[in-house]
Amino acid sequence: MSYVDEVFDMVVAKNPAQPEFHQAVKEVLESLRVVIEANEEKYRRDALLERLVTPERQLLFRVPWVDDKGQVQVNNGFRVQFNSAIGPYKGGLRLHPSVNIGIIKFLGFEQIFKNSLTGLPIGGGKGGSDFDPKGKSDREVMAFCQSFITELYKYIGADTDVPAGDIGTGAREIGYMYGQYKRLTGLYEGVLTGKGLSYGGSLARTEATGYGLLYLTEEMLKCNGRDIKGRTVAVSGAGNVAIYAIQKAQQLGAKPVTCSDSTGWIYDSEGIDVALLKEVKEVKRARLTEYAAARPSAQYHEKKDGEHGVWSVKCDIALPCATQNELDLEDAKVLVANGCFAVAEGANMPTTMEATEYFQANGVLFCPGKASNAGGVATSALEMSQNSERLSWTFEEVDSKLQGIMVNIFHSLDEAAKKFGCEGNYVAGANIAGFLKVAEAMTAQGIV
Ligand code: NDP
Repeated sequence: MSYVDEVFDMVVAKNPAQPEFHQAVKEVLESLRVVIEANEEKYRRDALLERLVTPERQLLFRVPWVDDKGQVQVNNGFRVQFNSAIGPYKGGLRLHPSVNIGIIKFLGFEQIFKNSLTGLPIGGGKGGSDFDPKGKSDREVMAFCQSFITELYKYIGADTDVPAGDIGTGAREIGYMYGQYKRLTGLYEGVLTGKGLSYGGSLARTEATGYGLLYLTEEMLKCNGRDIKGRTVAVSGAGNVAIYAIQKAQQLGAKPVTCSDSTGWIYDSEGIDVALLKEVKEVKRARLTEYAAARPSAQYHEKKDGEHGVWSVKCDIALPCATQNELDLEDAKVLVANGCFAVAEGANMPTTMEATEYFQANGVLFCPGKASNAGGVATSALEMSQNSERLSWTFEEVDSKLQGIMVNIFHSLDEAAKKFGCEGNYVAGANIAGFLKVAEAMTAQGIV
């Protein structure tokens, strides 16, 4: 049996009931096969793959807090410190009822390669909780965040592990967590990113993932002889990534016509009104029905099982920006039949493996999230730099660094794909380029 297959079987056996983690490992190892086989003896001797798929540390902890009725609630807290070969652990905290250790491990594993691709010195980690901030009062969210950090603060720090936001963790949650960290440690340091501007946050961090997604998409199109201008774009999600992806797509002359949340989706023939979307989602934290109510050109559709949602709309470019496995094979077939020629992932692993393979087999330009959504973590690393030098850069300075990073990411995965004989396969290119740097650092640092 090949080394790759052996290690994958070991992952499944040692990590039962973690399908998302298996899926992420399989996708990465499959595309690394050519590189692994060329160095098999060395990697086997060093158990490099076994070490790569095993987190350096996994923290699971109790998070008790008191709700507004005086009732004690208990959630599970997680932090997986996956790989620190190239820098301190870095990765977001997801707050969503679907969170479990398998989801956090899949995200942490992906984060290793994503962070490596940015070219910045950051290792891979991820964390979160099955706490649902939706429908909770500000006081309840604060009680949860304070309890969460009261345990986690022992294991994080500006030079060891620097968490950030993710689904359910926005500026409000980061603020409460930062306050509690500072209170417990007495340290005013860049231990979290995604902070508010008044206490060490970076300009352009809010926009970074969505903007970065479009910078990379534009470069991918350009290098394949296409222009983004005038293209119709289907976007899923209506959160941080989706909103700023829609905004940048418009700035680049494209026309995004959809967005979605967990209960329904919008088709707006005039193009999405970003100001209205922000008002509904960022200010009122309301449902998309409110967007449709305020906009005559918009149609609202309730989410229904078996239907294709935003992917049923005719588009040139699809940007999945909501959550994992939200675009499956049937959706991919509809998109291809409707003439979609490029897909770039804003969310983490939103496309199933079958859908990815279908896109690739049908000549669709496909960029995986670990490359195309890396703008968020890259800008988080720029926030760390600013905190370390106790300076704040201008919006333009951060945005232009972000643009440079995204263009570089595209070229490094494009070149890796060409070098290893799979030109145009950006999934393989991203995994190979991300892996090589981490593998070299792990090898140089010995058996740790
Ligand atoms: P937000 O919480 O701001 O938004 C998430 C959006 O997706 C919301 O519209 C939400 O709907 C929808 N959504 C969440 N879960 C589900 C689900 N199970 N089914 C259907 N819809 C769902 O998160 P972000 O925009 O920050 O993150 C989106 C994706 O991008 C995630 O995969 C995240 O890991 C990834 N990502 C985010 C980065 C960042 O900087 N924010 C960086 C890199 C990756 P509703 O409004 O109903 O909750």
